[in-house]
Amino acid sequence: MKTLATDLDGTLYLDDVLIKGVESAYKSLILDNYKIFHTTNNSSQSTDVLAKKLSNLLNVDIDLSSIVTPLVVLKEYLSNKKLSIFVYGSKDVKDFVSSISNTVTKLEDSNFIIMGRVESPSESELDLIAESIKSGKEGATLNKDLTYPISESEFKPGNGQIAKYIESKSQKELQSFGKEGELYSQYFLNKNIEVDYVIGDRVDTDIMFGNKLGATSILVESSIDNFMSEDFADSKFTDFPTFVSSIIN
Ligand SMILES: [Mg+2]
Repeated sequence: MKTLATDLDGTLYLDDVLIKGVESAYKSLILDNYKIFHTTNNSSQSTDVLAKKLSNLLNVDIDLSSIVTPLVVLKEYLSNKKLSIFVYGSKDVKDFVSSISNTVTKLEDSNFIIMGRVESPSESELDLIAESIKSGKEGATLNKDLTYPISESEFKPGNGQIAKYIESKSQKELQSFGKEGELYSQYFLNKNIEVDYVIGDRVDTDIMFGNKLGATSILVESSIDNFMSEDFADSKFTDFPTFVSSIIN
């Protein structure tokens, strides 16, 4: 059995629309006995919601444990630690962290700060967080994506904008639970999951993740402009279906 870890946004679908040819390409991988992991830096949707979305779009059953999001990696990370956690993020992210840890607290009582995406960040709150991190509290972000695609030509600002701001104000580097961080690839390594191929549309996240795992990294062309060199990828393909037909006879 071979294992492939695929990105979701911009690789399998854009917004709520499957990219052309993905359904039959996906099914041919299953028929060819591939184990597929669904990887994403999206931390605003739970694994249940993502499984339902994938299953509706692809018309297949999706195993929850095949979905790896920054929240899944965060849960694993917190599982054997005693931290007092402050969460800066949406209500969903706050609720999620509260559900996996009973040590969520106020900023002043915390020693670990988790940052997620919020619709309209308040500069004064961010400055307080940056100050806390500068003076020694540990800080981490759910991912460092500067933007994420919502259609072929539209983007929304991502977590990375906030992370960048905090890093520059605090002069400290934030850990990331996203694909670009060490903890994400560590999740696979700790579980002894050997991945043959990692496919995605972003060099800074997907390709870096693939290279950290020692997998063959596959870059697909998509709606985003990569600011890192495409040469980091082992191979380049137009899209997911084109890559799949190259590995399946
Ligand atoms: Mg993507």
